[in-house]
Amino acid sequence: MSHFFKRQDDGTLRIEVAKRGKELLWDALLNKGTAFTEEERETFGLAGLLPAQVNTIDDQAERTYQAIIRKPEPLEQYIGLRALQDRNETLFYRLLIDHLEEFMPIVYTPTVGEAGFHFSQIFRRGRGIWITPEHRGRIKELLAGLGKPYVRLIVVTDNERILGLGDQGAGGMVIPIGKLALYAGCAGLHPSTTLPISIDVGTDNRHLLDDPQYVGYRQPRLRGEEYDALIDEFVQAVKECFPEVLLQWEDFKKVNAFDLLARYQDEILSFNDDIQGTAAVTTAGLVAACRVIGEKLSDQRIAILGGGAAGVGIAHQLRGAFEREGKSADEITRSIAVLDSRGLIHSGREGLDEHKKTFAWPHELATEHGLDPTEKIELEHMMGTMKPTMLIGTSGVPGTFTESALREMAKHVERPVVFPLSNPTAMSEAHAADVVEWTEGRALIATGSPFDPVKYDDRMIHVSQGNNVYIFPGVGLGALAARATKVTDSMFTAAAADLAEQVSPEDLEAGKLYPRLAEMRKITRSIGQAVARQVFEEGLAQADADTTIEDLIDELIWEPAYPTLVPV
Ligand code: NAD
Repeated sequence: MSHFFKRQDDGTLRIEVAKRGKELLWDALLNKGTAFTEEERETFGLAGLLPAQVNTIDDQAERTYQAIIRKPEPLEQYIGLRALQDRNETLFYRLLIDHLEEFMPIVYTPTVGEAGFHFSQIFRRGRGIWITPEHRGRIKELLAGLGKPYVRLIVVTDNERILGLGDQGAGGMVIPIGKLALYAGCAGLHPSTTLPISIDVGTDNRHLLDDPQYVGYRQPRLRGEEYDALIDEFVQAVKECFPEVLLQWEDFKKVNAFDLLARYQDEILSFNDDIQGTAAVTTAGLVAACRVIGEKLSDQRIAILGGGAAGVGIAHQLRGAFEREGKSADEITRSIAVLDSRGLIHSGREGLDEHKKTFAWPHELATEHGLDPTEKIELEHMMGTMKPTMLIGTSGVPGTFTESALREMAKHVERPVVFPLSNPTAMSEAHAADVVEWTEGRALIATGSPFDPVKYDDRMIHVSQGNNVYIFPGVGLGALAARATKVTDSMFTAAAADLAEQVSPEDLEAGKLYPRLAEMRKITRSIGQAVARQVFEEGLAQADADTTIEDLIDELIWEPAYPTLVPV
């Protein structure tokens, strides 16, 4: 396996460097800015190219932090942080890790959504790889031309379903960049091993096609066989150029998301975070809620509003969890209901997608509940009949958790568990304050985007954030450390179980369903170990079985400190 760096005994990195002068300052992985020592300035031809002071990384981190937080708008802070990332990655990650809770909503949701929306206006410098239909026949050449055989982790999108914002064209690139920043920040994977990719097949977003400033591929989306062929060429090129890579599919529209996952999961180490990561983080939150209530997950009745990538992924993961807790197929069907824009998904509905059929309520079950399957069965109807104990929103449509539905739910359940997961904040199925009000302060709440705590009577009610960042970095870390040949659903189950266990009793007592974001490094390391253990248990590991799981994980973890540069 080739490496960009050598790890020294004290954990710091040693890198052989041919670059000098300005060229070195322009390489964000090597640049130290004002922290280049006098000796390094002489050795690498930097004399006179930097101001006189030699700073420590601590000095730089403090100075840069102040410069970022002085910016009043989140989008301005995003621009500032991205510029730092392109200038000096070590310092960027030092800042991100030191202020993870504060900067997570900037480098990722919700601000990343705004950045994607304004992408053409704020574009400064390219990062990662852009593949368009014009590159047909030479994708391998493009990837090989990067000269980075040490890449181990790719996040790729085709930009069609960016957060809850839909087709953002070239602007979707903010998502792979943001997710990989979180991989390096939370899991500690070195940024040289990561590569963000946008497959820019065009856009059907009229606003972008008509925008004279739009920087993306100005064509309607490539679809059908030509799209499939381009993706296939891409996957084959990735396999050849980066044989040990983990490929994370990100923000593809539902049908493509399911198809690509199914088509390639046995061919290349890969997973889809929108389907599998969301399912695992949601399951972990529900399991933590069960710890608060003192009941089993499989004893819950769960309604999911939204039958897309996220909703179906969650339903699938929950089925597995119920099965493992000994529930029969019939009990599971009765306990989980999925609704989409046409209401309850049931077997009497015409033209159901294949992936929805598994969760369809039998026609008779709906009738048994006094529901009329010839009409659209709304959430409100389900509340009075199925009486769900848990409600999850992945519809991408604001206001779909209505007051009447939630008040009805709260009539039947002591502690309703309510997860309006749609992103960004404006797309949330309900505002957290409304959920609190309509359930008289009894709900256990997790949302997709961050919400402030809500005051009810004289109590402050915490709103947890079911952020996928709790899961995907740990799954990636574990799969890479164990050198897995495949990522399985059981690995996500292992990740979810480990995450739910990491919520402290005091936090549970306060209604918090996820551990603290500030502890992400520790959380991710633990999940990484749980996943790696699962990889070995399933016989899918290629890593040396004589090395302990802890060592396999720790070999991949990087602390952002400047490397020792050695001239060649
Ligand atoms: P998707 O487009 O694949 O699915 C959306 C689904 O919602 C579809 O089944 C659609 O029929 C249904 N829907 C649309 N309008 C509806 C309505 N009025 N009532 C009921 N259902 C309706 O999208 P997705 O990938 O499943 O993501 C959905 C949302 O979940 C997005 O907003 C996304 O940001 C959010 N999400 C959150 C997390 C998280 O918080 N961890 C993770 C992933 C996705």
